[in-house]
Amino acid sequence: MRCPSCRQVGTFESIPDTNDVRTNVYFLGQRRCPKPGCHTHVFVVCYPDGRIEHSYPAELIDFDSARIPAKLVQTFSQALECHANGLHIPAAIMIRRTLEEVCADKQASGKVLRDRITALSNLVVLPKPLMEAMHELRLLGNDAAHVEAKTYDTIGDDEIRAAITLTREILKGLYQLDELVAALRALKK
Ligand SMILES: [Zn+2]
Repeated sequence: MRCPSCRQVGTFESIPDTNDVRTNVYFLGQRRCPKPGCHTHVFVVCYPDGRIEHSYPAELIDFDSARIPAKLVQTFSQALECHANGLHIPAAIMIRRTLEEVCADKQASGKVLRDRITALSNLVVLPKPLMEAMHELRLLGNDAAHVEAKTYDTIGDDEIRAAITLTREILKGLYQLDELVAALRALKK
């Protein structure tokens, strides 16, 4: 599994002197991250063949936080944690909040988020589909926050996975691509 703390993928180790509890369906036990220096402790619910049903803390969707402002990383990480724990509506709200913070960080102003996203499109270079995705994510967050809003029928695992993937691409485009291009250029003669 992917470690909830260091985010590396590894085969989690048993913890000496602790036995799993066996139920009709699951093994319930304790494991730790194999990475030296991490050794994060998790409780797991798994099948006899080793497949994990759930872990506490939960396994998060991967996300490269390099060069992204700390406040944004914190907010988006909370969206990932909500999703990992099956809390889809709070996840959609935290994704919307991530967009709010992107606009604040880039000083895109406007009365409501829709205006701020439009202002953002004049301040940064981002592929058009990703700019449009920001409006979709805004609407998804709207539906999550307001009972009367009805753009999306349901807000479930599929919607949030797609929203997380798009948010990750937006953050990459805004904060990580410049540095990657600079790193490549630095390798030229
Ligand atoms: Zn770890």
